[in-house]
Amino acid sequence: MKKHNFSAGPCILPQEVFQKASQAVLDLDNSGLSILEISHRSKAFVEVMDKAQSLALEHLKLPKDEYQVLFLQGGASMQFIMSAFNLMQTKAAYLDTGAWSAKAVKEANLLGKVDVMASSKDKNYNYIPKDYEIPKDVDYFHCTSNNTIFGTQMKHFPKVDAPVVCDMSSDIFSRDIDFSYFDVIYAGAQKNMGPAGATLVAVKKSCLGKVDRKIPSMLDYQVHAAKDSMFNTPPVFSVYVSMLTLEWLKAQGGVKAIEKQNKAKADAMYAEIDRNPLFTGFAAKEDRSMMNATFNLTDESLKDKFNNLLVEAGVNGLNGHRSVGGYRASMYNALPLESVQVVVKAMQELEKQA
Ligand SMILES: *Cc1c(COP(=O)(O)O)cnc(C)c1O
Repeated sequence: MKKHNFSAGPCILPQEVFQKASQAVLDLDNSGLSILEISHRSKAFVEVMDKAQSLALEHLKLPKDEYQVLFLQGGASMQFIMSAFNLMQTKAAYLDTGAWSAKAVKEANLLGKVDVMASSKDKNYNYIPKDYEIPKDVDYFHCTSNNTIFGTQMKHFPKVDAPVVCDMSSDIFSRDIDFSYFDVIYAGAQKNMGPAGATLVAVKKSCLGKVDRKIPSMLDYQVHAAKDSMFNTPPVFSVYVSMLTLEWLKAQGGVKAIEKQNKAKADAMYAEIDRNPLFTGFAAKEDRSMMNATFNLTDESLKDKFNNLLVEAGVNGLNGHRSVGGYRASMYNALPLESVQVVVKAMQELEKQA
């Protein structure tokens, strides 16, 4: 039975990427060797790394002479402390828009003073705070562009004089924004780019090397940049599959074209949430995420009935995060519109049966 995969992460990737990746596990480009057994210093893998880095820069429209792309390990969670190690001198400004932001705040607190500009914790993070001003004297401003768990997304970014660090784990490569506004972008691969194991970091070289503290080698962006992400063994398979997904994205027409599709999927999903009296959206309308739509049943007693309809339709991973409950439709780049239509149909079927 065909599955419709709404998992929040790890999550759906393009079918053709799965095919190519599985072929490369058996035999990489007719070399007689598996991607899993070649040296990361081999010509074949160095080419994979170069390609992945240059495709990432191309999709983000970032100039190669100003930005460095790194593929690191430790997930986005490692970047909470790593970004602070590299940029925090004394004080930084953070926007608290969800559980991941809060974790970033906690880590940065280990290295300096963290000023939380604003927080939406008062309403279980169902909106993005907008009224705040970032002081001029901070070392950097940190924000989370898309709040995977709560289904909110920043549509505007504040005016700021300091460098901007952004956790883009769940919406990187999904919409056409001015990425050059950011000085450090990081994203765990497993939400819109590839399998778990690699973390993409795009860093503006000019904002590095300004802190006095000693930085452990493995946490130093400059060390990894100097070795072109080969300071130690990179997560080769994850980088390879990420490269395949970035190639796929280019073939789709790039970020601008995929944004159009993402918008069509989100519009279809939210239209049904708003139309159907049995459902209610969780996030404030103006802050709704194009990637993760969160919603609840208005009558909890219909839960088993709806869950059965979803199972019958082949829908996977629609359950909400435990801190929000209800449902979450994660509609990453590789998810076809058809899958959204299947969920919409199940919602309409529930209305007929109820
Ligand atoms: C999933 C996620 C993380 C955590 O990523 P790991 O790679 O598991 O550390 C951090 N931030 C956001 C926005 C996420 O969606």
